[in-house]
Amino acid sequence: MLHIGCHLSSSKGFLHMGKAAQSIQADTFQFFTRNPRGGAIKDLDEADAAALARLLKDSGFTRIVAHAPYTLNACGAEGRVREFAREVMREDLRRMEYLPGNLYNIHPGSHVGQGISRGVELIAELLNELLDSAHATTVLLETMAGKGSEVGGRFEELRDILGMVCQSEKLGVCLDTCHVYDAGYDIVQDLDGVLSEFDTVIGLGRLKAVHLNDSKNPFGSRKDRHEVIGKGSIGLEAMTRIVVHPALRGLPFILETPNELPGYAAEIILLRGLADSTAARG
Ligand code: FE
Ligand code: FE
Ligand code: ZN
Repeated sequence: MLHIGCHLSSSKGFLHMGKAAQSIQADTFQFFTRNPRGGAIKDLDEADAAALARLLKDSGFTRIVAHAPYTLNACGAEGRVREFAREVMREDLRRMEYLPGNLYNIHPGSHVGQGISRGVELIAELLNELLDSAHATTVLLETMAGKGSEVGGRFEELRDILGMVCQSEKLGVCLDTCHVYDAGYDIVQDLDGVLSEFDTVIGLGRLKAVHLNDSKNPFGSRKDRHEVIGKGSIGLEAMTRIVVHPALRGLPFILETPNELPGYAAEIILLRGLADSTAARG
């Protein structure tokens, strides 16, 4: 069974997202915890969160993904940037407890000239401060395209963060197909090789979700521009191999392609169909 869904707008609340996901046969989805380019956040509607939690449980959803805002930079050079990251993450993680057992995805950060190793240190420091063994949420570090001074373009960088965090049982990785391809991991020509490298460096047990995106740019471009499935440099055949790969079986696959709901619905039907027919061929 392929678990697949897409990024949804959270503007109409929690339950609305669950219903929207159901309307397109998704059994997972992702949403921004707040404005992706800002920080302000509405009061939490506890009844709405509880209604979604019930829907997820009763309707066969797998884990869903909350995405932190892009403005969160755990390894900024300025104290106030890191303080903002701390406050946003602390509040987001508190709220995630109303949707227990799900995933909270962050971009590790941009070291803005301080160097990768300092970036890694600062990110681990913040995670050590905020992760709580009593929390029911798993925090995911997303694999990045490596544009600018982004941390997380190499598997080794994520491994180093994981290695420095004490409550690392609360920590996992989300693999973004556009990002890794842009970062120079050739999931088109050598998916097995990339996944076995991931396994060697990080461990496949850490992989908790996949962002399924085609890329507007060629292999290794370090650009991070998502394309709809099948229209980019990764292509439909490689996408199909990804969704049926045994190492990724059972993970939530989240589309972050440039689409509105009907486009996402079509991609979900397409990928489920390809996954099914590949399975049928054995
Ligand atoms: Fe992301
Ligand atoms: Fe992503
Ligand atoms: Zn991206």
